[in-house]
Amino acid sequence: MTFKYANDSDLHAKLIADVLSQYPDKAAKRRSKHLSVATSEKNANATSECEVKSNIKSVPGVMTIRGCAYAGSKGVVWGPIKDMVHISHGPVGCGQYSWSQRRNYYVGLTGIDTFVTMQFTSDFQEKDIVFGGDKKLEKVIDEIADLFPLSNGVTLQSECPIGLIGDDIEAVARKKAKEHATTVVPVRCEGFRGVSQSLGHHIANDAIRDWVFDKKDIQFASGPNDVNVIGDYNIGGDAWASRILLEEIGLRVVGNWSGDATLAEVERAPRATLNLIHCYRSMNYISRHMEEKYGIPWMEYNFFGPSQIDASLRNIAKHFGPEIEEKTEKVIARYQPFVSNVINKYSPRLSGKRVMLYVGGLRPRHVVTAYEDLGMEIVGTGYEFGHGDDYQRTGHYVKEGTLIYDDVTGYELEKFIEGIRPDLVGSGVKEKYPVQKMGIPFRQMHSWDYSGPYHGYDGFAIFARDMDMAINNPVWALYDAPWKDPAWAADAG
Ligand code: SF4
Repeated sequence: MTFKYANDSDLHAKLIADVLSQYPDKAAKRRSKHLSVATSEKNANATSECEVKSNIKSVPGVMTIRGCAYAGSKGVVWGPIKDMVHISHGPVGCGQYSWSQRRNYYVGLTGIDTFVTMQFTSDFQEKDIVFGGDKKLEKVIDEIADLFPLSNGVTLQSECPIGLIGDDIEAVARKKAKEHATTVVPVRCEGFRGVSQSLGHHIANDAIRDWVFDKKDIQFASGPNDVNVIGDYNIGGDAWASRILLEEIGLRVVGNWSGDATLAEVERAPRATLNLIHCYRSMNYISRHMEEKYGIPWMEYNFFGPSQIDASLRNIAKHFGPEIEEKTEKVIARYQPFVSNVINKYSPRLSGKRVMLYVGGLRPRHVVTAYEDLGMEIVGTGYEFGHGDDYQRTGHYVKEGTLIYDDVTGYELEKFIEGIRPDLVGSGVKEKYPVQKMGIPFRQMHSWDYSGPYHGYDGFAIFARDMDMAINNPVWALYDAPWKDPAWAADAG
């Protein structure tokens, strides 16, 4: 079945009914709450409503794409802080599979003063599980102090067994911080906590609050236009692209959390005037804390695609008054010809193409308008680990009739893609190859498929080029089996 129109509510509803009909009753009842079709908003300015159940346990036995709390802390929030060593505390596997991080670009000398793409683990063996791993952890911290004297601290990223055997990592952290006169942050992000990586983000935020803020006498001269960029992980250089724009409008970025970040940037964050949140899901907790404790307001922004970049820059500038607003208008005007060139070049090749998304963080909503700036349409979107407030925000971005799927199972996603046959799917590496084998172009939207940056006006040009390369790649015309080509059949006699 293929759709004639992009957002066909009836057909999307039928697809949901079809996948649910394949489940046992109990599973169907549970999954039905996570699948929906966006309806029109009755009262506010939003274009539609996306009400689905979210942030609850995946159904046992289905294939979920979620990660664990350890992944949320080590892989997202703490891992990119470049001048600290992050120990994967527990058996070797969790660290082995999270080696190298998520393309969080950084400046520095790896192994000397930066450690992002290195992997450190306490490598638990059976005797550590039986007798406890505290002594081993102490030894690891001592070795790190010896081998990497320019590291500015250590975090202890707990894997599942640490919580199960009850090791007192907080006591180890206090003892070793004193001995080495450094920062040691214990993070209770054991993978079994919560229902997805989302709780790991929250736990990691709380560890910043409890183990970093207000622990040192910070020597830092703050200014009136100082901002922290919160929740930009510098995938493919995104944070650098964002920083260029913010500095062009006259702001000073004093901290970027946590792509290319140093511990000092985290420590001095409470001195900023404003927190700008990029990934709301992973870092809203610490931003709310900074608002409550230090009186720093926060605002969300979207630097994907020119329409949202313009709006976000204007919104940020409003906070600082006429001088910054004037500069902002000049910056927007200066980029206008560049943006028009990008749109004129790519929209004839991309206009009308239909896209399905399934990602995490902020991308299921924030990239929607970047596609629309190129004349493309979003026909389905969903979050791996979103909460109710993410889906509420999604209503402002998607059109009525958009298929919405929360924590979508492997089976459901495949059936939705089969039914809709979009022109492009944007999701993760686990989805990439099955989708391409279905003959559908794909972009890996966790790591930008080894491209990027996608933030900012410059990033929009790269985004447009990448989508064009995926969709209009000549390989898709060669996809069918040769015997389906009448010319081949004729030749073969
Ligand atoms: S769930 Fe536990 S064992 Fe699995 S990767 Fe996460 S921390 Fe490691």
